[in-house]
Amino acid sequence: MKNKIYSFALLFLLLIILPFFASPLRSCAAEPVVVVIDPGHGGTNLGAEYEEYTEKEITLIVANAMYEELSKYDGVEVYMTRTGDETISLADRAEFAASVNADVLIALHFNMSENHNLFGSEVWISAFGEKYQEGYAIGETFMEQFDELGIYRRGIKTRLGDDGDDYYGIIREAKARDVTSIIVEHCHLDQEKDHEFYNSAEKLKNFGKMDAVAVAHYFGLSSRELGTDYSDYENVQVEFPVSVMAPDLSPPDICYIELVEADKEDRTVKIRLSAEDSDSYLLYYSYSADGGETFSELREWPKGDTFSFTIPVPNGISPNIVVNVYNKYDRITTSNALVIEGFPLVSRTEEDLTETQSETNTEALTDGMPESVQEAWGGNGAEEKTKEEKGPDLSFSTFLKICGICIGILLLLLIIGYSYLEMKKRKNRKRRRRF
Ligand SMILES: [Zn+2]
Repeated sequence: MKNKIYSFALLFLLLIILPFFASPLRSCAAEPVVVVIDPGHGGTNLGAEYEEYTEKEITLIVANAMYEELSKYDGVEVYMTRTGDETISLADRAEFAASVNADVLIALHFNMSENHNLFGSEVWISAFGEKYQEGYAIGETFMEQFDELGIYRRGIKTRLGDDGDDYYGIIREAKARDVTSIIVEHCHLDQEKDHEFYNSAEKLKNFGKMDAVAVAHYFGLSSRELGTDYSDYENVQVEFPVSVMAPDLSPPDICYIELVEADKEDRTVKIRLSAEDSDSYLLYYSYSADGGETFSELREWPKGDTFSFTIPVPNGISPNIVVNVYNKYDRITTSNALVIEGFPLVSRTEEDLTETQSETNTEALTDGMPESVQEAWGGNGAEEKTKEEKGPDLSFSTFLKICGICIGILLLLLIIGYSYLEMKKRKNRKRRRRF
């Protein structure tokens, strides 16, 4: 009787304890991780086009390399939504992922911005519940890879449509089929700063390898073939969101500038910029010396809320400094204007003159200037312009003169040569007559 009681108790204990062990065992040994790679666009859907690059083509190069690399890991099944140049709807891509029981659907893309000014990489994820939680942790493994490569981190983001649902189709369609999906925007095709990251097939293939490592990190995969083991990798801890993780649609709260130093000889103004965004974080800043008519290229936002930097003031401008700050969602806040009186419109030294002359020629800073400022160029500026206008005529006439001289010399040489030959012929004839 006692034995029976013991064996019942043991069975009871086993029944309670076993389920705790069952799930890790299942995920480690029995069921492989299923990853679906989705090369963005395809067929009639070209995606972004910039110079000789077409997004649908480069996403496929990245995807093929990612597939090849990820397949080298143990305990993973890898699929692709397309392997050729095909037009596939977002719903069909998500449907395929669901049909193979995907743990994750990774959509590979490259970015472009309306004003061709943004740079860096970003990951788009669902704003809802578990899909947000998982998407964020996977997104972070991708961001870490891009950090290593040196691409500017724009971050992991959500976007909602007018109906309040996820804006991006692939994320929405995957979520509807209970598949976690993320969109990886590797970098911007249309920005000089990002160009070096994607401008060869080798670099695109390297992106694919990095994408594979990111996924391997997230799932703690190891590869006997590669001799790598990421089973100890710790994913970022993301709390289950109690509400919709809506994007930050408000611009930065504070953007304020104050004068540190104005150097009239160097024509530079040093300012202190203070900015804050309580909802997200700051990404870029740009400055204007002409009251906001023209702005510099975007610059990376350094760590912290306050820092100082120096602005060069182009010739012909009385400095009216304005700064724009951009947050994570590219919302902009413009600073107060800093007008600096008593700045000479044109620097005095000759060195400055030649320097700024070439500057204004190449950057066409005056193009954006208000007419009143352009008029203020006055004396030197006007003289330079007339010189410029006469310049090409003068050089053309000297070119003509040189051509004329050259033709003259050539003709002279021809005449001399011809008469020499004639003389020789006559001599020869005389000799023949003698014989
Ligand atoms: Zn795309």
